[in-house]
Formats: sequence, C-alpha cells, structure tokens
Amino acid sequence: MTNETWGRVREALQAEVGQNNYRNWIEPLEFAGLEGGVARFVVPTNFMGNWVERNFSDRILREFARLGADVSRLVFSVTAGAARMAPKAEEAPAVAAAKPVETNLPGAPLDPRFTFDTFVVGKPNQLAHAAARRVAEGGAVTFNPLFLFGGVGLGKTHLMHAIAHEIKARKPEMRVVYLSAEQFMYRFVQALRDKQMMDFKHLFRSVDVLMVDDVQFIAGKDSTQEEFFHTFNALVDQNKQIILSADRAPGEIKDMEERIKSRLQSGLVVDLHPTDYELRLGILQTKAARYREQYPDLVIADGVLEFLAHRISTNVRVLEGALMRLFAFASLVGQEITLEKAQDALSDVLRASDRKVTVEEIQRKVAEHYNIRMSDMIGPKRQRAIARPRQVAMKLCKDLTTRSLPDIGRRFGGRDHTTVMHGVRRVEELVKSDSQIAEDVELLRRSLEA
Ligand code: ADP
Ligand code: MG
Repeated sequence: MTNETWGRVREALQAEVGQNNYRNWIEPLEFAGLEGGVARFVVPTNFMGNWVERNFSDRILREFARLGADVSRLVFSVTAGAARMAPKAEEAPAVAAAKPVETNLPGAPLDPRFTFDTFVVGKPNQLAHAAARRVAEGGAVTFNPLFLFGGVGLGKTHLMHAIAHEIKARKPEMRVVYLSAEQFMYRFVQALRDKQMMDFKHLFRSVDVLMVDDVQFIAGKDSTQEEFFHTFNALVDQNKQIILSADRAPGEIKDMEERIKSRLQSGLVVDLHPTDYELRLGILQTKAARYREQYPDLVIADGVLEFLAHRISTNVRVLEGALMRLFAFASLVGQEITLEKAQDALSDVLRASDRKVTVEEIQRKVAEHYNIRMSDMIGPKRQRAIARPRQVAMKLCKDLTTRSLPDIGRRFGGRDHTTVMHGVRRVEELVKSDSQIAEDVELLRRSLEA
C-alpha cells in the first residue's frame, strides 16, 4: 500500500465525517507506512492521536478494507518535533492545531451531521428525543441533569450534539461545552500536572450548558469522579443545564460513588431502547434518500432496505456502515443493487449480525434470572411465579428472534400461538405499569443482545 491508498481513504472520509471534522482531525494525519497490517501515522500531538483513534479509527479501518488494503490496526505517534517539546507545552499546540471551529475551549468539536433534523424518531427513542428537544429549547431548566442512557450506537452522542447545535442556534451567546468523560478526565489530569487547577475549575464552572458523554468512563477513577461531582454541583447550584450520557442507568454504574449516582438520578433519566424494525427501516430510508441526492444515478432495488432492517442488528452505526458500503459498491459496479448483490457485498456484516439469539438461550437466561427451572419454563405449570417469567421469555423471543408466534409456541412445550400472543401482550401491558417488570425485560434484553 502506498500514500495513494491513504489519499483515497482520506477522500472517502471527507465525505463521511464532514468538513470540520475532516479539517480538524483527518487532514493533519501524516501517513508513515504500513507493515504487517499496522498502518502508522504521525500526528502533531498525543492528544490528537488519541482523539482520532477513539473517534475515527473504525471509519478509517473500514475505508482501508473497502479499498482492499490489509490493515488491521492503526498506530498514531507524535512527530519528532512535538516529541522534543517540553512535556508541559506538548498539548497546547494540539488544541491550536485542531482549531475546533464549533466549540469553546474545553469542549470537543461537534459533528455537524448530528442534528435533530437528521435524527429519525421511532418508538424506541421517542422519549429520549422529546426530552432532548425540551432541553434544547431552553427556557426554565426543568430536568437537571438530563441523563440519557442506552447501548452502543443507539444515538446518545447524536442527540447530545443535536442539543448543542440547537442551543447555539437559538442562543449564540450561551457557552455550551460538550466533551466525553474521558476528555474531562484528561483535562483534569493535565490541569493537575500543570498546576492549573484554578483555571480548570474556572473554565468548567463558567459554562452555561455542560454535556459529558459516556460518564460510565469515570467509574473507578476516584479523583476525577470527585472533581466531576464538584463541577456538577457548582453548575446545578447556578441553575446551569447539565446533560449526561452513559451506556447504562445511573444506578447500574459500578464503582461510582453512591452520592454521585444519586445526584445523576436527580433530574430526568431517559432510556434509548434498542432499535426495532420500523426504526431501522426509517433510518435506512432517510439515509438512503440523502445518498440518492448525492448520487442520483445509483439504484437500490425494492426490498433491499427492508432486508437490511430485518437482518442487521440494533446498532445504528453498523446499519449506517452497511448502507455506506452498499452505495460505495453501487458506484463501483455502476449497476442496480439487487437483493442478491446486496447480500454479496455485505456478507461479512450479515454474518456478524447473524449471531442471532435462539429461543433456547432466551428461555435459559430468563429462567436463570427468575430462578425457575428450565423444565418449568416449557412445562404446564400455570401459577404466576412461573407463568410470568414464561411470558417475559415469549415477549423476548418475539422481539429478538425472527421466529413466528406458532413456532415460538411450539418451543414452549407445544403451546398455541394465541397463548404466545396473549403472553406477549400481557408483558407489554405490564411493562407500562410495573417498573420492576420493565426493568427485568430491559436488563434481560440487554444481556441477551450483548
Ligand atoms: P451512541 O453514542 O449511543 O453510541 P451515536 O450517537 O454515536 O451512538 O450513533 C451512532 C450512529 O448512528 C451515528 O452516526 C448516528 O448519527 C446514528 N444514529 C443513531 N440513532 C439515529 C437515529 N435515530 N436517526 C439517525 N441516525 C442515528
Ligand atoms: Mg456515543
């Protein structure tokens, strides 16, 4: 592989990540060679290398793969020039070089594509979306903090950026700061090292809106947690809006101090549920329409998007990647993408998503959770302590497998499909009225999908 391949990767990334991101993070990378599947890049600073690695390495690897280059790992290291600098000065140029156009100093850049306009709303995310909208509209601070949680690739970061864009558009004078918890920690450690804690505290206490993404990251990092807690309290006291995200509910974050957990739950906690078929299809249709504007000649046959929505798992990022590949493929072969060609082009993605949960796995997991026997799960007993878990398992089978209701019924000791339907409905009702059941279902769903 040569510089030329990297040039093509960069080109593709430019379209994918947007101008700002491209200019800030991709353009400054200097390709330094490929050996044994490892592509090396020289970066102006460690900070930048870390940032690119965390936020763009998947995409970079994907583009290399698409061009047929055998790259399995990316390594970023600083230039000789930057390495020679005094450690204290080392990070300063990173921020300067990165010139995040859209942010105030302590924040990370916002992805221009992550707006409310591009966010597709469906049942699994409507509550989170509504809460995000409300907070973005400003007005009295009602939910503080707004805590968004949910699995990987379900749109937490997208919603946070959307809030930031919206607030900035409505009230340009507001100081809105978005950053990941990891970056918060990094800044904190850096401030400690450079004896600039006063500046650090001042900076974070003078913002109007603070957004910290993936706060589960600071679990177990005691001094960072402590500082975060103080920042948090100071801002809440001033009635400043705080928006947080995590991959799980506040109460489920391990190694997080109790007082912090309880603080995290003191506002509104909303959950982004795993995508369902309708939402996936909606997202695919929206994104495909946008590709079509860009490439009006490309044709995707009827049924292909439906197929993808059906077959690709709940992570929206994976879904987007698949669609992007499909369009890249279409533009390469210059033909209509039929269902068959799509299956061909995406065989690896489909195979990975194929790791579908089985009815039996669901039954076992649910039985274990409720501490009942597998034989009771599929047996005839009808008392509630057994019937309820059975119904929960039925509901999960309906949601997580592609099996039909009669088929599911058969696997539950030869029950009729109407029994399954009744069970599913019952659980769907209970989830609305009984928070314990709702929590159980969610927990089981997550662990089955992990
Ligand atoms: P998370 O932070 O929850 O891991 P992201 O916000 O990074 O997930 O979302 C992953 C990708 O999926 C992003 O490119 C995002 O734009 C896209 N995405 C997620 N949910 C939606 C949605 N409802 N509509 C449109 N795009 C979405
Ligand atoms: Mg995220």
